[in-house]
Order: sequence, then structure tokens, then C-alpha cells
Amino acid sequence: MADPRITIVGASLAGLRTAEAVLAELPQARIMLVGDEPHAPYNRPPLSKDSMEALAGGQAPRAEVFEKLLLRSKIMPGQIEMRLGVAAAGIESGNVRLEDGALLRSDFVVAATGIRPRRMPMQGAADRRHVLRSFDDAEALAQAMRPGAQMVVIGAGFIGCEIAATARKLGLHVTVVEPAPQPMLRALGHRVAAAMAALHRRHGVTLLTGRSVETFEAERVILDDGKALEADVIVEALGSRPNTEWLAASGADLSDGVLVDDRMQAIGAQNLLAVGDLARFANPLFDDLPRRVEHWCVPGQTAKRAAATIAARVSGGAPAPDFAPMPSFWSDQYGMRVQAFGAPALAETQTVVEGDLTQIGVAPIVVEYARGDHLVGVIGLGAPPALIARYRARLMDALCAPVTA
Ligand SMILES: Cc1cc2nc3c(=O)[nH]c(=O)nc-3n(C[C@H](O)[C@H](O)[C@H](O)COP(=O)(O)OP(=O)(O)OC[C@H]3O[C@@H](n4cnc5c(N)ncnc54)[C@H](O)[C@@H]3O)c2cc1C
Repeated sequence: MADPRITIVGASLAGLRTAEAVLAELPQARIMLVGDEPHAPYNRPPLSKDSMEALAGGQAPRAEVFEKLLLRSKIMPGQIEMRLGVAAAGIESGNVRLEDGALLRSDFVVAATGIRPRRMPMQGAADRRHVLRSFDDAEALAQAMRPGAQMVVIGAGFIGCEIAATARKLGLHVTVVEPAPQPMLRALGHRVAAAMAALHRRHGVTLLTGRSVETFEAERVILDDGKALEADVIVEALGSRPNTEWLAASGADLSDGVLVDDRMQAIGAQNLLAVGDLARFANPLFDDLPRRVEHWCVPGQTAKRAAATIAARVSGGAPAPDFAPMPSFWSDQYGMRVQAFGAPALAETQTVVEGDLTQIGVAPIVVEYARGDHLVGVIGLGAPPALIARYRARLMDALCAPVTA
């Protein structure tokens, strides 16, 4: 296979980083990057933060806001082909069929189609319901975010909480409805989640936990306890669904994203690999259970791995044996950075090792997370980089230490 044809589907962070990594390994590869959005690859995290504020506040023209989001790339013009604004519709004998009928002959297909927001199943209030995943979503939501408007955010995960924080800054009245007892509970654990709840309330958010939405009326959201919330803007921030429909005939395990081995090779589909939010893989730093990880760091890590796998298959060599990336994520709320390393969601216990949770948003805090006797994660809340770096190094040492019985 002298000049392999590689089709990468999904022209966002994972797709772009895969194209770069493949070119670095196989400069002769013929790469086609396909994306259903009309835009060149851009960065999503600012959509719920600075870009949302700029779009809603009208501080900068739309084009200027988008320009800042564009992902910088090492790819030179002409090094790869790109088809934007067209979706992949299916896999036929290992090749990619596009929605417009074109068939892209492929020696390897890399799936980088990410996820999309889940929606509430009920009808109603269609003109005021929003989700946030894309730049177009952000623009539509920003247009509705006027100072003094009543916003109801359904779901207190990171995206819901970031939108709530941005909306408060813009002068909206915000109510967040969450069925769990605390916001961001799974990712942060009870104690830190409770502190985050206090932070949101301190900033004027009405946080209704243990509640869910029963129905939508024209201008109101009705909760399961009968309470009616006035709503000019409704945001559904309920989590995600992987974009795997186009892979239905691939033979891959699509039970939650694409199940891959530690080389990003799809189980059950010979020439298919998956990267980014879509890929479900085990991380030996923690255990052998495959999981999808929706953090910004994962596209880059999995892209390099997938490229090494393709290069090894083209040249007959073997990729490096272990794939054990350190997960990390951040979130910005009310000017405070939440920064996490490892897998705090797997922990059974939390220990505050710096600061005091009652001082959230005021003074730096660091919390370590353990499963049994083993450190599995660390989270900094407004912690300066040098401080959190120290605990990250401690976590890395603990995760890499041999486990003794
Ligand atoms: C609002 C927001 C804020 C975030 N904030 C943070 C943060 O603070 N910290 C953090 O760690 N992470 C954050 N993330 C997560 C981070 O942005 C994602 O982990 C990252 O974007 C995943 O990249 P990806 O390329 O795998 O998927 P995506 O970025 O979802 O890209 C997938 C692309 O594939 C396209 N596609 C889907 N189906 C098809 C098809 N059939 N054919 C062609 N193209 C298709 C999609 O339209 C999309 O363009 C945030 C995400 C969002 C949405």
C-alpha cells in the first residue's frame, strides 16, 4: 500500500489532529477530510464561555468571533483534500458513501464524528428551545440572550453550568433544573459538587436540584412538582448521543460510540478506526473497562495513536505497546477555573488537600480523589498553575506506580 487513501469523517478537533498526525507519519498518504458543518474546523470550548459572551453582548462581529475559534493547523494548502457541508451517509465495503451520492474509496476510514446533544422528547415551546454544540447553535442561543430575560437551563452538567454562568454575567435571570441532588455530580463527587452549587447560588442562579421537566407550555416550563417557570429562553443541556448512524453497516460495536482497542482500531471492522469524543476505549491507568471521554484533550491523544496504527499497518511495523493517556479537562465558571486530571468520576473518596470548600471562588482549593487506597484524580478550583501541577505530578506517580496486592 504505497500511497494509502485515508478518509477522515468529522472535520473538527479530532479529525484535523488525525490528518496532521497521519501526514507526520505518512507524508505520501492521500487524505480526505469530510465534515457536515459548512465551517472549517473550529474550537468548541469557548462557545459556552467567551464566544457566547461576545456573540450575545455584540462586542464583536460574528465573523471576528468565529475567526478566533478557528483551529490553527500545521497542514499546508493542498496537502489534504477537504469536503465540507456534506455528511457521510454510510459505509459500503469499507468505503465511505456521502450524502450527495459520492463514494470515497478508502484504505482506512477514521471516524471522528463526535457527539450531538440529547433532546427532551416532549413537544412545545419550539421557538425558544436551544442546545449548544456548534457555532450555529451558539449564534442562535446568543441572539436570544437579552439582559433581563428569563432563562431555564435543563441539566446541570458542565455545559449547562457554563451557560448559566455566562448568562448571569449578561444579566439574564437563570433557573437551572437538575434531577440529581447536585450539579456536575458524577464528574466532581458530592462535596465539590455541593460547593459548586453554592457558587452558582451566590451568583444569583436559582438551582432546582432533584427536579425534572414534565412538559413545555408556550412560555413556561412545567416541572414534575407542578411548579411553572416563566421561560424566554430554554437550554436543553442533557448530555449527548454519539454520531454513529452512518457506521451502521460497518460491523463495528456501536453500543456507545465506537468500541476500539488500544490502537484505536474498531472492534469488528477491519479498516475502521475511531478518535475523539466518539471513541470508546479502556485506559490501563484505571482499569480495563472501555469508556468514551468527552474532554478536549482526547482528540489529540487518540489522533496520534490512530495515525501510528495506520502507519504501522502500512509499513508492517508495530505501534508502541501501551496507550495510557492522562485525561484532563477544565471548565470556567464565574471567573474560576475548574481543572481536573485523572478520573475523579471513578473515586469513592475525596480529600481537600489545599484550601477550604467554603472559600470556593475566593481562594484556591485542591481536592484529591481516591478509589480504595489509590489516587485516581485531582481537581483544582481556582488553583494557580504551579499548585495544580504539583498535584498532577503526584497523581501521575501514583497512577504509574505498580499496584501491589
Ligand atoms: C460548548 C462546549 C464547551 C466545551 N467546553 C470544554 C471545556 O471547557 N473543557 C474540555 O475539556 N472540553 C470541553 N468541551 C468538549 C470538547 O470541545 C470536545 O471534547 C471536542 O470538541 C471533541 O472533538 P471531536 O472532534 O471528537 O468531536 P466534535 O468536536 O463534536 O466534532 C465532530 C464533527 O463531526 C461532524 N459530523 C457528525 N456526523 C457527521 C457525519 N455523518 N458526516 C460528517 N461529519 C459529521 C460534526 O458536525 C462535528 O463537526 C466542550 C464542548 C462544547 C460543545
